[in-house]
Amino acid sequence: MVDLISQYEKIKPAIDTAILDVIGNAQFINGPEVAGFKVELEEYLNVKHVIPCANGTDALQIALMALGLKAGDEVITPSFTYIATTEVMALLGLKPIFVEVNPNTFCIDASEIEAAITSNTKAIVPVHLYGQCAPMNEIMEIANKHNLLVIEDTAQAIGADYTLTNGKTVKSGTIGQIGCTSFFPSKNLGCFGDGGAMFTNDDELAVKLKMISNHGQSKQYHHDVVGCNSRLDNIQAAVLRIKLKELNNFNDARRKVADHYDNFFSKFPQISIPERASNSTHVFHQYTIKLEGLDRNNLKEYLAEKEIPSMIYYPIPAHRQKMFDSFGSSNTKLPITDWLTERVISLPIHTEMTIEQLDKICAAVADFINR
Ligand SMILES: *Cc1c(COP(=O)(O)O)cnc(C)c1O
Repeated sequence: MVDLISQYEKIKPAIDTAILDVIGNAQFINGPEVAGFKVELEEYLNVKHVIPCANGTDALQIALMALGLKAGDEVITPSFTYIATTEVMALLGLKPIFVEVNPNTFCIDASEIEAAITSNTKAIVPVHLYGQCAPMNEIMEIANKHNLLVIEDTAQAIGADYTLTNGKTVKSGTIGQIGCTSFFPSKNLGCFGDGGAMFTNDDELAVKLKMISNHGQSKQYHHDVVGCNSRLDNIQAAVLRIKLKELNNFNDARRKVADHYDNFFSKFPQISIPERASNSTHVFHQYTIKLEGLDRNNLKEYLAEKEIPSMIYYPIPAHRQKMFDSFGSSNTKLPITDWLTERVISLPIHTEMTIEQLDKICAAVADFINR
C-alpha cells in the first residue's frame, strides 16, 4: 500500500546524518530536534502552538482531557473512522455518540449533528478521513450555536487546506479548539516509529496540553493535574524535520496518483471515484473507491492473486465494535455507515508510485470488471 523504502532512499543522506547526530549527542528525549520541529510545524500550519506527543491516539486522549470533559459527557463523532478516534472517549468514561458520514466524501454529515445533541453533549470530534476535511464551516457554526468544543482528528489529512466562510484558507487541524495528528510511518507525514502532535491557537489550552502530556507537571516535580507520559522522541523529530520540508511535494505526488486513478476509473459506471469535498483540498492519505453491483471482496482477492495489495478501511464501524457494547451503540441506526463498510476498497497510493505500477493496478481492476 505504501513504499517507505523508496521514499527513504531519496532523502537518505539527510536522514542518516540527522539520526546519527542525535545518537552522537545522546539527547534522546526533549532535545533540540523536538524544539526545532515544534516551531517548524507551527510555521507550516500557521498555528500558535504545536505540542508534540507520543502518537495520534494519545493526542486525541490528551485533547479530551485538556478540555475538562467529565465522565458521562457526550461527544459526537462519526462511526466510520479508525478505532483510535472513539476508543479514547470510552477510556475517559465519555460517551461517543455516533453519527452518519456523507457517503461520497466519507466525512461526518454535518446535517446529522444537531439531532444528536443532548444536554450532555460537550464536544464534536470530526475526522478528516482519507485526506480531506470534514465540513468544518457547518460544524463550527453548530458548535458555536450550542456551545460545544471541537477537536479535529487530522491524522489522515495533515497539510490539507480548508477555506473558511470568511474566505481565509487555513490548514486542517487549526480550525477547532484543538487539532490532533499522528506521525505513524504510513501517514502523509510519518516518522520511523510512533509520534503525534496537538495544535491549538489558544494559549491556555496549549499550557494544559503540554502539562497533561508530561505527568500533569507545571514545574519540575510539581504535578497539578493527572496527566500521562506522552513524548515525541528526538530521533523521530529529526526525521520529521526533514520530511516536513517535503510534505507539500509528498501531498502533490499523492494527488497525481489520485488524478491518474480518477481519469482511468471514471470510464467505469461500476466504480464510484472519491468525491472532492467542497472548501477542502485532498491530500489522499487513502484512495478509496466504492463498487456498484460488484463484490469488493472478490476484487480484493482478484488483486491479491496478481500481488496487488488493497485494504478495507474500515470493515467494522466503531458503533458495531464489541468495546462499545456497554453503551448499546450497535442499536444506533447508521445505514450509510453500514453500507460503506461493505462497499469501500482502498488501492495503493504513496509518494513513490510509478506509471508502470499505476497502469498495472488500473488494468487489473479493468480486467476484474470485464471478466
Ligand atoms: C492513525 C490514526 C489515528 C491514531 O494515530 P496513532 O499514531 O496510530 O495512535 C487516529 N485517528 C485516525 C483517523 C488515524 O488514521
